[in-house]
Formats: sequence, structure tokens, C-alpha cells
Amino acid sequence: MTTGVNLEFLKAKLQELQTGQRADPDFLSKFVKLEEGETSVRILPAAEGEENFFTETGLHRINRKNIHCPQYVENKPCPICFYIRKLWDSGSEENIALARKIKRRKRYYFNVIVREEKGPGGTVEKNVGPKVLSVGVKLFEKILSVFFDPDYGDLTDLESGWDFKIKMEIKDEYPNYDKSNPRPRPSKAGSKQEIEEWMKNLHDLKSLITLKSLEEIKEEMSIMLNEESADDFFDSKAKAAQAGVVEPQAAATAIGNDASDDDDSGDESESESINVDDTQKDFLTQLEKIKAGK
Ligand SMILES: [Zn+2]
Repeated sequence: MTTGVNLEFLKAKLQELQTGQRADPDFLSKFVKLEEGETSVRILPAAEGEENFFTETGLHRINRKNIHCPQYVENKPCPICFYIRKLWDSGSEENIALARKIKRRKRYYFNVIVREEKGPGGTVEKNVGPKVLSVGVKLFEKILSVFFDPDYGDLTDLESGWDFKIKMEIKDEYPNYDKSNPRPRPSKAGSKQEIEEWMKNLHDLKSLITLKSLEEIKEEMSIMLNEESADDFFDSKAKAAQAGVVEPQAAATAIGNDASDDDDSGDESESESINVDDTQKDFLTQLEKIKAGK
């Protein structure tokens, strides 16, 4: 099929009209839904003109939403990282617990073909995609290490690469992917026509990383801290202690596919999250302006 029509998108639009809900099903349906057990995928190579076959971001999870960290993505001031540092510096146990909960976690996105997926009505669909696979640090490391394993090589090679089996187990309420590995034998990714079609329909991975404005982030933080005004929460350590709004388990499953494979053990180091640099100092000045203007 070479019409260039994105049926998934049209289906989502139709659903939107029928349900009257301005949800974003086309966004969520882009992502691979990882479930307990095995999901076999073929990771696709980089799109033409792209350097890498994956892209990376840093996410804060607040109010059951994923918020891309402006500092990680564009080296711009991040009010959340700034706040986390405040929480951390306070030394209070509750504040540190909150800091851990909302701190930045790295995510990596790939274009993949899902070898088997349950379709509507329980049917099994084969070779679904390209879809976006979103993984945390540990699974990312596992995928990359295949490239340097003498028994393997370029996982993404369309002619002689390897399918990758993602095995999800739930350990201590968190998903664990330690048993994931490439299939033992190399294989062609698909037929010539399939490959052509897939490579034409790769998702623009970078476009998945959209930064919220400083105001929007401030608003989310304000909601998080029990609807308190964002102006005074920086001074209020006690209030932060009350703000344990999102249970870790709920957060891990709340926002659909993108979050369902949260790899909590693959956090960034705490010291990395609390570095203060010039952008943070600039942010202080900016914050003063925001306060004054309110
Ligand atoms: Zn941040």
C-alpha cells in the first residue's frame, strides 16, 4: 500500500468523533504495550538522515503525567529539578522520599515491529508497527550490549539482525526485564515489501519529546502540591511533606503504554539530579520575575 494514509490516525479521529472525547488515542496507540510475560520485537534501524536508531529523554512523573525535563532535553532551567534539589537539601525524610518519587528518569524510544500482538476481540496480529518502544535505563543497556557481544552484532540489521524478546516479570511491584534477550538466530526482519513499508512509516522519535512551557510545568507542580500556589511552595518544606500524591505503583501504570514499562531501578544517580549550574541560577532570577508579575 503506498497511499501514505495513516489508518491508525484516521481510526483514532473517528473514535474521537464517536465518543466525543478529545483523548489522544493516536498518541498512545503509537506505543508498544508491554505486559507481564514475553513481547517479541524487531528493532528497526535509524530513519534515513537520522544518526541513531533511538532517541533519549529525561522524564519527571507528576500528576500521572510524563513531563520531559527541559534541563535534560535542552539544557534549559527545570523548575522540577530545582525543586527536587530544595527537597533534597532540606534533609527531611519525607521531602527526600518525594524527591525520589518525582526525580528525572531516563527513557529511550525506538521504532520497532511487534511480532505478535493481541488485536481487538482477542485476535492475534502479526508484525504490527512500526510502533514506539519506550524503555528505561536497564533495558536500554541490555539492548545496546547486544551490539558489542561477539555472538551478536547489529541488532537492527534488516537482513541479518536479531529479534529481541522482552520478558517482563513483576518483582516487588515493579516491572523487571533482566531476562530479556535477543533471539539466538539472526533473521531477515521481513519481506522486501514489508521492510519498505516499515521504513517509510517510521515514527519521528524526536517529535515525541515536546517540552512544556515553564508556566505549564509550574502549574503541574502547583497541582501536585495540593493546589497550593506555586509562589510559596519553594519555602514550604512542611507542605511538601503532605504532598505524597502519587503512589509509586499507580504512577507506574497510570499513563498508559509509555509508563507501563517503567524501570525504576534504572534511575539516574541522585547526585546527577541535584547538580546546580548556571541555568539553575538563571532560573532563580526568572522565578523572582514570575513571582513579582503575579
Ligand atoms: Zn528536570
